Amino acid sequence: MSKKTLAIIKPDAVKKNYTGQIITNISEAGFKIKAMKMVKLTTNSAEGFYEVHRERGFFRDLIEYMTSGPCIPIALEKENAVDEFRKLIGATDPAKAEKGTIRKLFAVNIQENAIHGSDSDDNAEKEISHFFSRNELLENYNG
Ligand code: ATP
Ligand code: MG
Repeated sequence: MSKKTLAIIKPDAVKKNYTGQIITNISEAGFKIKAMKMVKLTTNSAEGFYEVHRERGFFRDLIEYMTSGPCIPIALEKENAVDEFRKLIGATDPAKAEKGTIRKLFAVNIQENAIHGSDSDDNAEKEISHFFSRNELLENYNG
């Protein structure tokens, strides 16, 4: 089981100034921040990141939303990181998310759902590389 996952604090949550509370929540759950930055995604970059959803009806809206303002990708580390983080963020639709989860606390609806979490070890690896260079990661993962 890999120890890595990628989180993104999404544009709706950044806009509403939830960044600090969300990072506190993540830290208190035992995740270590290994790399972090604030970026405004280009359409190209957002389409690449969500390529698997290209054929879905919500794809164009998703890309518009993800490029609507800055977001904060964060490379995280913890034992069993992918599953543990998905538990912490809750269901995609905040109406269905468990009490106390990040989406229950901070998400607006199924699209503007405050935070992303990788769904497998393979995708975690790919998604971390989408945002962070080898050098940025080497320095922080070894430190
Ligand atoms: P993420 O990949 O962002 O962590 P997820 O794995 O819970 O979310 P996915 O099915 O991968 O959910 O969908 C990716 C994103 O697309 C969702 O987080 C949400 O922002 C948007 N999305 C998913 N389903 C819908 C929908 N039915 N209507 C509108 N937007 C949606
Ligand atoms: Mg997903």
